[in-house]
Amino acid sequence: MATPLSADRLLAVLKAEGLTVHEHAGWRTHERDAATGKPFGPVIGVLIHHTAGQNDKELCFNGRPDLPGPLCHGWLGKTEGLWLLSAGRANHAGLVDVDVLNALRAEASPLPKDDQANADGNDVLYGLEIENRGNGQDPYPAGQYRQAVLWAAAICRAHGWSEKSVAGHKECQPGKVDPSFDMDVFRADVRAQLAKTPGKTATTPAPTPSKPRVDVSRLVTAARTDPGARQGHVTYMTGVNLVEAALVKVGYLSKTYAGDGSFGSRTVDAYARWQRHLGYSGTAADGIPGRTSLAKLGDRTGLFTVVA
Ligand SMILES: [Zn+2]
Repeated sequence: MATPLSADRLLAVLKAEGLTVHEHAGWRTHERDAATGKPFGPVIGVLIHHTAGQNDKELCFNGRPDLPGPLCHGWLGKTEGLWLLSAGRANHAGLVDVDVLNALRAEASPLPKDDQANADGNDVLYGLEIENRGNGQDPYPAGQYRQAVLWAAAICRAHGWSEKSVAGHKECQPGKVDPSFDMDVFRADVRAQLAKTPGKTATTPAPTPSKPRVDVSRLVTAARTDPGARQGHVTYMTGVNLVEAALVKVGYLSKTYAGDGSFGSRTVDAYARWQRHLGYSGTAADGIPGRTSLAKLGDRTGLFTVVA
């Protein structure tokens, strides 16, 4: 828990970390505090996003018709560098899982699963939007990724936080997939930076974009729970949607039944067909995903990787 850095201090600590910083006109007073009646802070951590677009600095400053700007504190372009858009309350996190916020506050790791959206992350988190299409194919140039590490490290250093105060949006809010790189790797890079004297340059290898991950144990729970529950029951929205998209792609599920996040009986039937395709039979082809068949489905379609 800490008082947010003032605009001057934020600018100073980012420069001290070794960053070249661009200031958007009006950024020092561009915030949502007065409009919402909710002041920014006390702060507990930093949140990393990808923009899922390009050339979106002004969009992140001004906002969208349904979401007023600023949409982040820092915007990090692929070639335009780091821009400051706000030092106050920004609309970047939305409703997040209070258990994750509590873990960030306590610097507990690993972070708990984000399975609820019940606390306002904009109250307590700094946000960085990284310009990237977020499709898992769009690379993060090494220089851009390096600046993201420095941004997070600078703010953590200023507040006396460790890398355990850093999270990705995908780790805080159910359904979010940003950023499209591995946050454990990112935190390790922030940790390495915090161990250095700020301002000294060092190279960090750019990450390969990581695919969305499907948790096999959560998926099995969904496959055992959803068919017998009321219509449309959702146990594991993001994982089921990815698996259903894959089953559509291999031709075993009609598009009509995909995308509602519920592992219903049609999905069980489709998954059983996939298992039979792999050579399984009997109870090994009962439509309840196993790690091997799931990994093969992810590989075949290129849509996800599997975690236990
Ligand atoms: Zn985000």
